Amino acid sequence: MRRVSVFGATGSIGVNTLDMLARQPGEFDIVALSGGANIALLAEQARATGAEIAVTAHADRLAELRAALAGSGVAAAAGPGALIEAAERPADWVMSAIVGAAGLAPGFRALRQGATLALANKESLVAAGPLLMAEAARHGATILPVDSEHSAVFQALIGEDIAAVERVIITASGGPFRDWTSERISAATIAQAVAHPNWDMGARISIDSASLFNKALEVIETREYFGVDPAQIEVLVHPQSIVHALVGFNDGALMAHLGPADMRHAIGFALNWPARRPAPVERLDLARLARLDFAAPDPARFPALRLAREVMAAGGLAGAAFNAAKETALDAFLDGRIGFSAMAPLVEATLARLARGDGLQNPPDTLDVVLAMDHVARVRAGEVLAGGTWQ
Ligand code: NAD
Ligand code: MG
Repeated sequence: MRRVSVFGATGSIGVNTLDMLARQPGEFDIVALSGGANIALLAEQARATGAEIAVTAHADRLAELRAALAGSGVAAAAGPGALIEAAERPADWVMSAIVGAAGLAPGFRALRQGATLALANKESLVAAGPLLMAEAARHGATILPVDSEHSAVFQALIGEDIAAVERVIITASGGPFRDWTSERISAATIAQAVAHPNWDMGARISIDSASLFNKALEVIETREYFGVDPAQIEVLVHPQSIVHALVGFNDGALMAHLGPADMRHAIGFALNWPARRPAPVERLDLARLARLDFAAPDPARFPALRLAREVMAAGGLAGAAFNAAKETALDAFLDGRIGFSAMAPLVEATLARLARGDGLQNPPDTLDVVLAMDHVARVRAGEVLAGGTWQ
């Protein structure tokens, strides 16, 4: 029996992960499940899977979780410290599907005990890529990508020599505002930004997809995961979200990965790698689809991709700062403090401010250094926001 933990079990990726685990009955012992405010769902998941422990991120919800688990034999715990302790429980396969920088520490703990880390939390690689990869190598742990594009690249590289790779192309649907004018985008509401045309995801990543900040994070994720040069990474707008990525080789061949917009493919692949097992995803009917469209992204309406390039060029702790500033900007948009099109300028102004003496160039040596930059970047973004002179 493989011992399995799922962090962020109550989210979109988490629910799909439990669905895939349930399709292979008798193969897994569920160790830890974590969630946030949805205590009822977390307790239901823990009961259904017979987990050892359920952890809510909210320290003040412990009594509620305990009550919901009464008589089940599942232990209850709460708060960020409990999350880390749960990640230290021995496990063979750990799903990292917490959204945001909060997912960093549990993922690191899982690597330290040599687990295979199925990494949906792309923020970990953006904020601390070199550190995470070194930690995995040090402990003989494996990281497997659970992002459709990166799972696609990983699959296109099977049996190939990375030295023969000329370019890596990740696709972007373009999100709900793909064909909107700048004026219309700047007046976009939360409901409009959350309504992704192809993928059913958590609210935060859906809004990041509308701004292309998600693709910006994924460009950095590509660099950190596969070690390719930033100049080799391309983004291609592909409205149908059928081709997830393409790898171009030195002989001119392009290997593409096609599949339906269903994360259970990437989750199942990471769960069973290096084997392939049947997955409950729709089979593509290409004749019915008839066409696949591609276009270059528009840098004027979607400046996030340029920021990703600047972050990669800056190196050091710029990735951690970028992610934290982006999360703060997203919070400000969700709180109604700024408009949709103000997010990118706020992130850019925060990075400029951090470049003046906050140690942005320091190497991401330890998790503490990364988390300290995450904190400072949130403070600076708040200052920039309050100053009001950045737009
Ligand atoms: P979601 O919002 O649906 O779920 C997030 C999960 O994290 C929930 O279980 C929530 O309770 C938990 N959580 C939120 N804040 C937390 C905190 N501060 N501390 C601890 N736990 C917290 O998000 P999602 O769409 O499932 O995405 C999860 C991760 O996977 C993100 O990093 C996202 O970028 C990545 N991802 C998602 C998809 C997708 O299709 N949904 C695709 C690729 C990558
Ligand atoms: Mg993706």
